[in-house]
Parts: sequence; structure tokens; C-alpha cells
Amino acid sequence: MRLSKTFVKTLREAPKDETARNGQLLVRAGFINKEMAGVYDYLPLGLRVIENIKNIVREEMNNIGCEELLLTALQNPEPWEKTGRFSDKEVDVWFKTELASGGMLGLAPTHEEPITTLMKTYISSYKDLPVYVYQFQTKFRNELRAKSGILRGREFLMKDLYSFHTTEKDLDDFYKKVERAYMNVFERLGLGEDTIETFASGGMFSKYSHEFQTLLPVGEDTVYYNADKTIAVNKEVMNDETLKDLNLKREELTEGPAAEVGNIFKLKLKYSEPLGLKYIDKNNEQKTVCMGCYGIGISRLMGVVAEKFADDKGLVWPESIAPFKYYLVGIGEKGMEQAEEYYKAHQDEVLFDDRDIRPGEKFADAELMGIPYRVVISDKTLATGSAEITNRQTGETKLIKVLD
Ligand code: ATP
Ligand code: MG
Repeated sequence: MRLSKTFVKTLREAPKDETARNGQLLVRAGFINKEMAGVYDYLPLGLRVIENIKNIVREEMNNIGCEELLLTALQNPEPWEKTGRFSDKEVDVWFKTELASGGMLGLAPTHEEPITTLMKTYISSYKDLPVYVYQFQTKFRNELRAKSGILRGREFLMKDLYSFHTTEKDLDDFYKKVERAYMNVFERLGLGEDTIETFASGGMFSKYSHEFQTLLPVGEDTVYYNADKTIAVNKEVMNDETLKDLNLKREELTEGPAAEVGNIFKLKLKYSEPLGLKYIDKNNEQKTVCMGCYGIGISRLMGVVAEKFADDKGLVWPESIAPFKYYLVGIGEKGMEQAEEYYKAHQDEVLFDDRDIRPGEKFADAELMGIPYRVVISDKTLATGSAEITNRQTGETKLIKVLD
């Protein structure tokens, strides 16, 4: 991508009402645009980050045998009425609208009801199970407070996976695979060390659910975690009983703020029962399908990475999800010529700052955008047939050969 050709510009100021650091930096760096509280557009650079995160999640989901699909955002109230969740008392974040032809529609805050209903068409025998399906979908939630930048959107991107099983044992086995796949995702995003599997409330059907909480000063949750960060307890279930269940001692745990980047849940029969998702087992008996659901906040993750690694100069992307690996600057006539050559040979990885502005401005933008490596080719470096490469995270600079 050539910066001279894109409409996007870095901005001196973020909108006044944008108080979250991730939101401010992402707007200023030209990755997102704020429409209103909790509602953001993804611009070309931001979209590349989102796509990179999605691809990592996709790989990890496909690795454990999941199939990708895409459900609709518009929701028929019927299945939600069957589970009692169309009610604003039950789910207080609905966006609903009236159909011109009469009747109501909802904008999906999550997708358990439609996916369970859909599976009634395809699951009828034990031979049809298990099924693991996931999607990347825009969710709509009328969140009361949306002041955390893209950490909490009213419209946001989620990866949601649903699993369907004959037995609880089968669900338990798959659940463990998802736990590992999730940790792989967070590790690949550079968040592995500070993302802790956390015991949280399990609702009606399980004693606990598991959240994946990334330690973060601006995180909205409070967790209590052990010294090697392998287990944590969410404040909402932090009590003597939980400590006993998990064999933990309060004095060995540290309290800290965290952002929930994922959540996995053994639903068991919670939705399959009221929606009538059944199968015939080996003995020709009718049974209810056992379910699990597993979410990852894709856009929230982008915000968490932005918050976590940013410094006083701007964003710092890990290579795995950076929009481009290199930010290329040519200085002087020969330097520019050689930069052109370099760009043509490495277009997929290079953000080429070919704008007619001072090098100092280019360097500032390179830092604000957080591209992992800045490559400078100048008449001076070319004297030794090299380019100067600077690591955004460490500030370390070295020379690499560009000419033989
Ligand atoms: P929270 O407690 O933060 O509201 P939740 O328990 O409502 O989250 P889930 O319904 O389990 O979240 O959604 C799955 C994942 O989607 C969460 O773990 C989180 O990463 C992400 N997520 C949830 N709500 C939002 C939101 N409003 N904006 C961005 N991401 C969100
Ligand atoms: Mg919520």
C-alpha cells in the first residue's frame, strides 16, 4: 500500500468524546473512525488488523475440526420467545425494530437460538453428531456504557462457536480442545503471558464458565490470579466456596483489572431443550442434544492489543496481526528510487510512505501507526548497499543489505 494513494490520513487529534486510549490512538493513526459512542468504522489499515486476527482464530478453529458458516444478524423473535430471551427483562441489550409489514425483528446480540433452531434441520441421529460450527459475525448490543473505545462496542465483531454432542463426556472432551485452541490464539497475538483462564459464573447448567481475561489497567473486570498466571477467579464468583472448589488460597492471589477477551460455556441442554433439538441414539431412543458455546471478541482483541502495547509515540503491533510488516521510507533521489524497487518486490508486506513530506513527519507516522519495522533507504545507507531497519518495539536499529 502506498500512503500517497490512500484517502486515510493520520490525525493530530482524536474526537473530544473519545476518552479511551485505544480509541484515541486508533482514530489518530487512521485505523478506525468513530461514528458515535460504541460504533466504529474500520478503515483499510484497521480492517487488515481485524482480518489478521480473524485468520489466526480461523486457523485455530479449523485445526480442531470446526466448520465456518455465517448466520444472519436479523432475528426472527420466535425461537427467542421459546427460550424466554426475546424479553428485554431477560436480555437487556436488544436492539429491536418493527417490520414494515408488521411484527418485530431483533438485531442479534448472540446466536444460540438461531443456530440451535437451524441444527434441527440437520441433526436427527447420533450419526449426525458431533457438530462444531463457528462464524465471525457482527453483534449488536445496546450497552449502557460504551466509553472504552473498541473494547466495548454497541456494534462489534465476535467469533462464536457452537458445539453439539450426544453426551456430556463428549462435550467435556471438546471443551478441553477449545481451551487449548483459545490459548494458542492469545499466544499468537502476543497476549499469552497475561491472558488467564478465569473461573466465572456458570449460570443455570454449570457451576462455572470459563473466561479468558487479559490483565489490562483499563479492563472492566476484576480478577484474582495466581503467581504463575495459570488460573484466576472473577470477582463475581470470588468467595470461600469457589476458593475451596479450586483449591486456592486467597492470600496467594493477586487482584487486578482485566478485559474479557473470550468466554466458553457448557450449555448442556439449556437451549436444545426448549427449542426441541433432539436425536435418536443407538438404542433408538430419543435424546436431547448437548451443547457448548465459545466466544472470542475479535474487535475487542484489537483494542486490547492496542492498549497493551502502545507507548508514548503510538501503537505497537505484534508482527502476527500488524497491517504491514514494514514501513518504508526513501530519502534522497537514489534512496527514493531504491525504495520503489524494494516496494515493488515486497508489496504484500510493505506500507510505502511515498508522500511528498519531510522524513521527520514520515517517522512520526511510522511510530503512530505501530508498524513493526521501519525501513529507511537513503543515499547514505546506499553508500554501503544497505538500508536501516528499526524495530518499533525495542527502538533497535541495524543495517541490512538491499544491494549486492
Ligand atoms: P462482557 O461481560 O464484557 O459484557 P459478555 O459476557 O457479555 O462480555 P459474551 O456474551 O460471552 O460476553 O461474548 C463473547 C465475547 O465477546 C466476550 O468475551 C468479549 O470478548 C466480546 N464482547 C462482549 N461484549 C462486547 C462488546 N460490547 N464489545 C466488544 N466485544 C464484546
Ligand atoms: Mg456483556
